[in-house]
Amino acid sequence: VDKGIALILRVALDTPLRRAFDYLPPAGDSAAEPTLAAPPLGVRVRVPFGRRQMIGVLIGIAGESEVPAAKLKAAHEILDAASVFDPVTFELLLWAADYYHHPVGEVIAAALPVALRMVRARAAANRVSAGQAAPTAAPIECRPSEVILTSEQAQVVEAIGASLGGYRAHLLHGVTGSGKTEVYLRAIAAAVARGDQALVLVPEIALTPQLVERFRRRFSGGIAVLHSALSGTERRDAWRAAQSGLAVIVIGTRSAVLCSLPRLGLIVVDEEHDASYKQQEGFRYSARDLAVLRAQRARVPIVLGSATPSLETLENAAQARYATLKLPQRPGTARAPRLHLVDLRKHASDQGLSQPAIQAIGRHLADGGQVIVFLNRRGYAPALFCNQCGWAASCAHCDARMTLHRRAGQLRCHHCGAAAPVPATCSNCRHDLNPLGQGTERVEETLARLFPSAPRARLDRDTAAGRGALEAVLQRVHRGEARILIGTQMLTKGHDFPDVSLVVILDADQGLFASDFRATERLAQTITQVAGRAGRASRPGEVLIQTEFPEHPLLVRLIRDGYEGFAASALAERRHAEWPPYSRLAMLRAEARDSLALDGFLAGAADRGRGVGESVKILGPATALMARRADHFRAHLLIEAASRAVLQRFLARWIPVVETLAGPPGLRWSIDVDPLEVD
Ligand SMILES: [Zn+2]
Ligand SMILES: [Zn+2]
Repeated sequence: VDKGIALILRVALDTPLRRAFDYLPPAGDSAAEPTLAAPPLGVRVRVPFGRRQMIGVLIGIAGESEVPAAKLKAAHEILDAASVFDPVTFELLLWAADYYHHPVGEVIAAALPVALRMVRARAAANRVSAGQAAPTAAPIECRPSEVILTSEQAQVVEAIGASLGGYRAHLLHGVTGSGKTEVYLRAIAAAVARGDQALVLVPEIALTPQLVERFRRRFSGGIAVLHSALSGTERRDAWRAAQSGLAVIVIGTRSAVLCSLPRLGLIVVDEEHDASYKQQEGFRYSARDLAVLRAQRARVPIVLGSATPSLETLENAAQARYATLKLPQRPGTARAPRLHLVDLRKHASDQGLSQPAIQAIGRHLADGGQVIVFLNRRGYAPALFCNQCGWAASCAHCDARMTLHRRAGQLRCHHCGAAAPVPATCSNCRHDLNPLGQGTERVEETLARLFPSAPRARLDRDTAAGRGALEAVLQRVHRGEARILIGTQMLTKGHDFPDVSLVVILDADQGLFASDFRATERLAQTITQVAGRAGRASRPGEVLIQTEFPEHPLLVRLIRDGYEGFAASALAERRHAEWPPYSRLAMLRAEARDSLALDGFLAGAADRGRGVGESVKILGPATALMARRADHFRAHLLIEAASRAVLQRFLARWIPVVETLAGPPGLRWSIDVDPLEVD
């Protein structure tokens, strides 16, 4: 029966399938005839899916479907009158699904709060009005700042301000303590004064109430905060405030880059080198990279700020794709800290603390300074050993040692979360067991013994768990109640510790000889960032870096020429080895319980890849650095291409073939475009 012109709705649904789903329009009110007027793209649609209902987003209209007409179902309801995304965000999401080769339904789901995707009896209560129909926001007052800008800061603010109204990418390379946040605040004030919205991305852990408070003090209102710890309704409300235009400034972690902002005028990405901008599971996007693309498409400026820019960003700046703005100095009398290497082979040490470090800590405490002791390993000790027979406590599910958490009285696996009580004696020979090596908990114990009168605070994922815990630790340090702060990577994320005069880095050698080509970059960034915590105000800072390899060229270059010197050497190495940014990578990661079948699947995938006929290198199958995690064996293929275009052409043809390959039961695999970690 001819039903006239067919109108097929292509709906993106939150499923792992790499395609949209076809539906007929909902039945009209008057007759059984489908409505013929096409709804606008970007509206939410309630549809039947199997035995249940789902809410998806309309991403296309077609004249015909590959699904046989008899099997096509009608959508239940169109939920919105206009797109829930502004046009740039909508295009960005579709582009990202293509580029990262990820199911479009999951990409759109990542951008839309769960509360707006839940099928409820009263779904209409969650109607979303489009950005164009946004209510006019109350004018936002900016309180003038008391901070007097240095001439360098003023120049940077002016350069960013002059670029408002068009696309321009700025690398703001400012040393720690150079006042980048003040620059952001002024640039945002200029954008807001034009009636624009500003998007500020910050690393996961840096989004503290302190930072938000600083924004709230400067602007009278209109600030929305988006991060992973929000409840469903909090997220929906913040998202709506941004999407409707009521929020003028949106501060958020990674996923905020996907947020709808109808009057976007400026994007700031703080600590642009930070690894938390890359989603490491599911939809593996880089928020930093998407932010640059978003700025381009929205024709607005973007500021990528860091004391230790990523090598990719430095290369973009070297090629003049980004403009470089520099803040090489700290304002006022503050001076850059002095860095020294401590040769661990020459000096006796007490539980990981060398004699020169112990003496320096005593000296700085006596002078009234605060001390940071950095070790990127939490827990009491990374291993529990039997000296008699060599037995060590290992995880039953991973190729990894269990970490001793003495205070909690547990052995914990940091890779799968398994926990066990601490055995009293060796299970092999009944001999006593000894903790081997140091974690932050043990370093805290050692410092308590060496400096009993100096109050301490510890900052790691164990002490910062739970709401408000991180803030409580930071407050103790700020108020000067804690004189010694022991911590992990968490210390490096933009916190301001004004009285810290000494930083001790206990173990610089993790990462010097790692197989991942980015390991040295991360090490140099960590050392520079932690070192930057020293000597913030008028106190000169001192930094001691303990190492067994004081002649290592990377460390020598970093100490002598700073991060920029290091970066120049590292980029030269990358160019020689044809690693990014001088090539493009993608990874196919897979895991299964059966390691032989896993290798078989990957070998098959590699084989088919070689038949695709693009000039890419396919490396592997290689076993992951940790071959077994949570009872699954893990391996991967690494794809290397000379350019983004070649890599994308290859992936577009190869992935559909990989999807047809049979794998072992329980096989899981994923594609990671521009992977951050290749181990
Ligand atoms: Zn034993
Ligand atoms: Zn484990």
